[in-house]
Amino acid sequence: MTTGTQAAPTAAPDGPIVDLRGRRGLVVGIANAQSIAAGCAAAFTAAGARLAATYLDARAEPYVRAVTDRLGCDLVLPCDVRVDGQLDAVFDAVRAAWGRLDFVLHSIAFAPRDDLHGRVTDCSAAGFATAMDISCHSFIRMARLAEPLMTRGGCLLTVTFYGSERVVEHYNLMGPVKAALESSMRYVAAELGPKGIRAHAISPGPMRTRAASGIDRFDELLDRAAAAAPEHQLVEPADIGALAAFLASDAARHITGTVIPVDGGQHLLA
Ligand code: NAD
Repeated sequence: MTTGTQAAPTAAPDGPIVDLRGRRGLVVGIANAQSIAAGCAAAFTAAGARLAATYLDARAEPYVRAVTDRLGCDLVLPCDVRVDGQLDAVFDAVRAAWGRLDFVLHSIAFAPRDDLHGRVTDCSAAGFATAMDISCHSFIRMARLAEPLMTRGGCLLTVTFYGSERVVEHYNLMGPVKAALESSMRYVAAELGPKGIRAHAISPGPMRTRAASGIDRFDELLDRAAAAAPEHQLVEPADIGALAAFLASDAARHITGTVIPVDGGQHLLA
């Protein structure tokens, strides 16, 4: 950004606009090759970044390694954000390997099935707290742990859904949880902005992933999205990856605190 009366001359970029060469990022949320986080990790590495990635537990590890081996991730570590010390251990390993960090993708969500399938009006305190802890507060924890490692500034990304703003049938408890996630992202962006750390929430249209299969009648949501979106097409993890790589790059250096839909225009319609 230029201050003063005279604008600086516009220099033509001497490389690709989205350039993550020399950048190091942490990706949390790959479950398998269909995960939104897998699409993002592929885009980050295509733009030249080196990555650390995590898997939930031993059962998930082989599916995650199938992705991380193909992408050549530097570090692949266990991380269940509910297990004491595991998230801290991930950031300790990043510090030991790289000494710094440039971007983090938080692409995780969970709600207990009974609470997710019932009315918000009926959800239990325990179910609500679990969903908020895994899907929202873990983003705040990641921001706090990333802050001292983002010595040259950085970018924190999370993934939300339109059900935060409007009532989407069967999205239920995840609606208020995503609303809290988006608001947390905005406060983090404001608080860490002075250190050059930016934050965003990407809001994809529905796509068939492991997490999505937990939403009741998800196929109907997909059909409605494809019918309603002006493009009449569903989005894919690679579409989210393209935006994530741009946001993590210097090309987006003055953009922070946004919720950006990648949904073929579905959000435009009442
Ligand atoms: P996914 O199942 O591939 O990914 C969800 C991830 O959350 C998994 O990797 C899982 O291991 C992780 N997770 C769950 N509990 C965890 C815990 N305790 N600790 C650490 N990780 C945990 O599904 P996805 O659709 O790629 O979901 C990624 C994000 O995208 C979620 O926040 C989801 O709400 C959001 N999203 C999905 C859609 C969609 O239609 N698929 C649309 C909009 C937003």
